[in-house]
Amino acid sequence: MNDMYGKGILKGLGVSLKRFVETYLDDLTWFGKRYRTDAGIAHRASKNARGIFTVQYPEEKIPVPEEFRFVPFLVYDEGPNGEKNLRCTSCGICAKVCPPQCIWIVRSTDPATGRPVPDPAEFMIDADICMNCGLCAEYCPFDAIKMDHDYELASGKRNVYNKERLSKPALYYESIRPLNAGRENAFRAAKVAAHAGLSE
Ligand code: SF4
Ligand code: SF4
Repeated sequence: MNDMYGKGILKGLGVSLKRFVETYLDDLTWFGKRYRTDAGIAHRASKNARGIFTVQYPEEKIPVPEEFRFVPFLVYDEGPNGEKNLRCTSCGICAKVCPPQCIWIVRSTDPATGRPVPDPAEFMIDADICMNCGLCAEYCPFDAIKMDHDYELASGKRNVYNKERLSKPALYYESIRPLNAGRENAFRAAKVAAHAGLSE
């Protein structure tokens, strides 16, 4: 009972006091450089940050970790003449698994035969409904849709993004998720090598 009413409260107050003191210690250690400098931002984003601090957004932005997820984008590989070759085959798996059903895909068809072609004629995501769960990216068999890091999407209108708006180069994906992209590129390269070995 004593523990319940005495020690616990003191322990909690001790944590608050420690944070309070550390705030000023870190301010003194980083005198004048804790805010609005790249080093200060990096320090506050790290596990070495002590005490309480604010992020002076939008002047300051704390870097997001690689696995941070925001509204997805479509990855394209650039062709030799700058063509945007979307990886998407319009298989529809992402639209099926999307919990709030905010993905719409229109398949292309061959004008001569009327048969479907593995290329989306249109691809839309309602960014106002997307809950950033990342399931579309998890389930896509072609690494064609990935979660973005760009979280500054506020606008005064409805945010339904079309194929044009959603498309971003593979190099952008590699820049925001280098570890993931590296693993996937290595896996694809191994698959190609295995195929080449089989066909020899
Ligand atoms: S993004 Fe991926 S899962 Fe979605 S339709 Fe395209 S290829 Fe299929
Ligand atoms: S992140 Fe989730 S909610 Fe958003 S489009 Fe993908 S599956 Fe749908």
